[in-house]
Amino acid sequence: MLDKLSSSLKDAVKKIAMSKRIDRHTVEELVRDLQRALIQADVRISMVKELSTRVRERALKEKAVLNPREHVIKILYEELMKILGRGVELPLRPQKVMMVGLHGSGKTSSCAKLARYFQKKGLKPAVICADIYRPAASAQLRQLCAEINVPFFDTASCGRTDVLEIVKAGVEEFERYDIKIIDTAGRHALESEMIEELRRIESEIKPEQRILVLDASIGQQASVQAKAFDDAIGITGIIITKMDGTAKGGGALSAVAETNSGVAFIGTGEKIDDLERFEPDRFVSRMLGMGDIKSLIEIAEENLEPEDAEAALKGKFTLNDLYKQLEALRKMGPFKKLVQMLPLGGLDIDLDDSAYQVTEEKLRKFRVIMDSMTEEERNEPKIIDGSRLRRIAIGSGTSTAEVNELLKYHRMMQKMMKSLTSGRGRVPIPIPKMRGMPVKMMKKLK
Ligand code: GDP
Ligand code: MG
Repeated sequence: MLDKLSSSLKDAVKKIAMSKRIDRHTVEELVRDLQRALIQADVRISMVKELSTRVRERALKEKAVLNPREHVIKILYEELMKILGRGVELPLRPQKVMMVGLHGSGKTSSCAKLARYFQKKGLKPAVICADIYRPAASAQLRQLCAEINVPFFDTASCGRTDVLEIVKAGVEEFERYDIKIIDTAGRHALESEMIEELRRIESEIKPEQRILVLDASIGQQASVQAKAFDDAIGITGIIITKMDGTAKGGGALSAVAETNSGVAFIGTGEKIDDLERFEPDRFVSRMLGMGDIKSLIEIAEENLEPEDAEAALKGKFTLNDLYKQLEALRKMGPFKKLVQMLPLGGLDIDLDDSAYQVTEEKLRKFRVIMDSMTEEERNEPKIIDGSRLRRIAIGSGTSTAEVNELLKYHRMMQKMMKSLTSGRGRVPIPIPKMRGMPVKMMKKLK
């Protein structure tokens, strides 16, 4: 997500972290790097200029409480937070959520993603489709809802063709549901007809949330749309989609920051779970390569028992631990995504997808192999020599190559866990207290 901007910012942070002292020259270089990165991300020039001035002034004039390098990084962090705007949190209580936005912005996908989000939080969502103009839109949403077991209502459910009547009937039908999500029809541009229809639905249904969906690739243009929709129906939160597919997301975020509205979520992929709450502090931490401890905890808590999470991140690491951990990680979702959230600052491990594809089948095989080992071998895999290897392979009905695969995997994970828990990543991480903390400590941070 925003790979280019993020890697430029990380490089800038690295330069600061490596420099012997912070002087005018270092700060100028930082400001230049920053300008280049932000302009490429489509952040408005005048905004970039203002930010440059503030970074320059603060870095040279403000008295450093931390060491000078950390001080500059802190300033960078704070100033970036300012231009990326505020996050909005949708309350977890029964409510109606109306979704608006132009065609193709990702509205319909976001309806399903949002339903999934509330579902994970323990609320009961239901979805109503008010797009009567494109039958395909209704079918798409029905399909998405079926995938996550969320009830769905549209024109076919009530035999009506008037948008207002459909929505009213849907809201009534789903009276017992906590969250009623209403997908509306979009247009290709801000036409008055669409705005009029949205106004009518809004005044009739009075949805507590009016969520605008914006495609990140519109960059700076995000502010024009945000203002227009806000004038029409009052926007309570924004979802910026397709942050995974464009370099302009920084521009979209900063443009929204200049309006009355705040960003509630960002869409990071096409799958139903690819929706993240937008919280500027963790977003900026991640962009700067300082790790995203908060997101990691959230994922762990959503999907895991506490002891699983412990196992997943623990330092001491036997083959038994590996097994527990593989199960835990499998529950947490795509490993690569997870690793990107960790405060590693770059591990000496190739994050090749295939290396982390631990399928159910492989997991079963690993278990069988481990069952053929002695307790001693599981605790101290180093003692497994050629003859033990053959014995284990025969005992488990596998091959020595497969046993070796497990051992190799174990060594790789062990190396990674060590690096995680000791914080000895290849690249120095500028904020020492954020380095690879065990889960228990991380929880205290919240
Ligand atoms: P709508 O016309 O506003 O309802 O837009 P849709 O929900 O139909 O989305 C349009 C296209 O964008 C679809 O192909 C979606 O899969 C895709 N899409 C939506 N959100 C995201 C996202 O966050 N990331 C990516 N990569 N694609 C997305
Ligand atoms: Mg749609």
